[in-house]
Amino acid sequence: MNGITLALSKGRIFEETLPLLAAAGITPTDNPESSRKLIIGTNRPDVRLVIVRATDTPTYVQYGAADMGIAGKDVLIEHGGAGLYQPLDLNIAKCRLCVAVPKEFDYAAAVKRGARIRVATKYVKAAKEHFAAKGMHVDLIKLYGSMELAPLVGLADAIVDLVSTGSTLKANNLVEVEDIMPISSRLVVNQASLKLKRELIQPVLDAFAGAIRP
Ligand code: ATP
Ligand code: MG
Repeated sequence: MNGITLALSKGRIFEETLPLLAAAGITPTDNPESSRKLIIGTNRPDVRLVIVRATDTPTYVQYGAADMGIAGKDVLIEHGGAGLYQPLDLNIAKCRLCVAVPKEFDYAAAVKRGARIRVATKYVKAAKEHFAAKGMHVDLIKLYGSMELAPLVGLADAIVDLVSTGSTLKANNLVEVEDIMPISSRLVVNQASLKLKRELIQPVLDAFAGAIRP
């Protein structure tokens, strides 16, 4: 492809990226929510979008299947960031990574007595670093979704998950007991693409940078 390919995931990242694309003069020709197409054109013949699973975005960009992509910090931590430039925090898809437990579980007491707790999460790497920094020994259980269920059925004592409003935690009788880090999405660029296609990529980067909302 002579032009540039941008990898995006459906849902909040796509929605919140639309204003940034508009600032760069890019309008998608299809809506991935209603279309089944995975390759979406734009008003510009030299720019196309590929629709991927959020966790796969860094992988497409790392291998150059997409020149650029937009991915959450959570996803980038788990991926590791190899082969990627991360020039911009776009301040979109904002939430936080936190530790949550059932209301009746005394997390502070468990930490204090050095209990070995079981933690279910999709974010194994971030969780491992968090508990290691606190000097806590935990058993991590990798899940791929619906982490909130794990403590309710005895799979884990705690979860590490993304939270924005907290309504999912509340609906499942869970409370946030530790804030790990704020999360937002970043622009990632394939390192070789940036060198070989700079004249196409740089203006998009500049337009995105100018359109970031505080
Ligand atoms: P899926 O929901 O299809 O399993 P996913 O959870 O990886 O996949 P999204 O829910 O679209 O995909 O989340 C994409 C990114 O948006 C996440 O990687 C994270 O950075 C951010 N995010 C996740 N949950 C929230 C939230 N509740 N509020 C704001 N941003 C969020
Ligand atoms: Mg999700």
